[in-house]
Amino acid sequence: KPIIAIVGRPNVGKSTIFNRIIGDRLAIVEDKPGVTRDRIYSAGEWNGRAFSVVDTGGIEIDGEDQIMKSVRMQAELAIEEADVIIFMVDAKDGLTIADDEVAQMLLRSRKPIVVAVNKVDNLNRHDDIYEFYNLGFGTPIGISGAHGMGIGDLLDAAVEKLPELTEEHYEDDVIRVALIGRPNVGKSSLVNALLGEERVIVSDVAGTTRDAIDTPFERDGQKYVLIDTAGMRKRGKVYETTEKYSVMRALKAIERADVVLVLINGEEGIIEQDKHIAGYAHEAGKASIFVVNKWDVVEKDEKTMKNFTQDIREQFLFMTYAPIVFLSALTKQRLHKLLPIVTRASEQHALRIQTHLLNDVLSDAIAINPPPTDKGRRLRINYATQVAVKPPTIVLFANDPDMMHFSYERYLENKIRAAFDFEGTPIRIFTRRKS
Ligand code: GDP
Repeated sequence: KPIIAIVGRPNVGKSTIFNRIIGDRLAIVEDKPGVTRDRIYSAGEWNGRAFSVVDTGGIEIDGEDQIMKSVRMQAELAIEEADVIIFMVDAKDGLTIADDEVAQMLLRSRKPIVVAVNKVDNLNRHDDIYEFYNLGFGTPIGISGAHGMGIGDLLDAAVEKLPELTEEHYEDDVIRVALIGRPNVGKSSLVNALLGEERVIVSDVAGTTRDAIDTPFERDGQKYVLIDTAGMRKRGKVYETTEKYSVMRALKAIERADVVLVLINGEEGIIEQDKHIAGYAHEAGKASIFVVNKWDVVEKDEKTMKNFTQDIREQFLFMTYAPIVFLSALTKQRLHKLLPIVTRASEQHALRIQTHLLNDVLSDAIAINPPPTDKGRRLRINYATQVAVKPPTIVLFANDPDMMHFSYERYLENKIRAAFDFEGTPIRIFTRRKS
């Protein structure tokens, strides 16, 4: 999915607009236990185009000239990673020097830009937005985050500038694997270890394309491609260590992958950022595997692995399907376990269950534990069918979909998993009306 980034000075209202753009979706996502709350990116859709939207705000920098620095960093981040940039300014403040400086950077980047003038209370009065024509990005769009006005026009303009979708050119039998995780967790080391030789994967020559560089390889007759290893090069800039940078990198790699390896530093344990990234792989419907790296330096006794496993299960409640592999990219200890698990997760991700088998499991599950009732009426599930793979997606046809509870859906999912496994992949369940 292409990325739309929102850039602008502090207090111009970026997060309000971000929340308006993602709308109800956020609330739905947050309803599920274990899904983290402070999100800075989300999937959005407008006019039939799907995209990810990222709020670049909130990069904190100490020292003088803070605001300029942080806006400059946001802009750099967006220029590197986004496909379309929404540049937000404030009608109440008018055009500021900081706005001008960011505009210069954005102009040089030649990225598609849409100027959003926030805090315009009367969209029919154009005087508020006139001066922003001077920024040089064409017609500014007047919006009001507080009143939710003008958002549609803004999205029209942004989506219109999204790049055309390019076709992936990998054959169906190639498993696309993304490695994600915070800096220094060992992504490059694991890539090297998997490829079986110590070498630099991507050149660090200035001007090398920033586009994804994929590394294909074959092992035991199975073809794989490691996605977007370009993102792992060391660039030594401050913002590379900020969460937002890694997240945008990760989003792009995840979108293109079948299987996502979520790397966790065995030495340091799980941090919040690990959850953000894993949560995105889950929502994107990708197969996932937790790879606990640097296992060589962890002081172990017979309980260590069990405790770490339990910790992962508690912190990633929504991803109990993901297998956990403990290994060391450095010593290659247990490395041989990884690819068979990747292959298996990929198979499960593409698994299609015959309708009659699915319905056998469903009727058994319903017989043991009947669906919820409401005011004397019972949810009646008539039949189920798998409508998609990658991830497996199951539709339940029922008398009243509104009566489906999250907990009952969970129960059915567990029964389905008990029967068909689906280890490594999320499965999606929808309930539709049909009696
Ligand atoms: P990246 O930023 O995620 O690509 O991480 P790197 O692959 O560059 O690794 C960061 C540091 O961790 C390097 O100094 C590696 O040598 C070290 N490292 C990576 N994997 C392991 C491991 O399994 N065990 C140990 N002890 N060190 C590792």
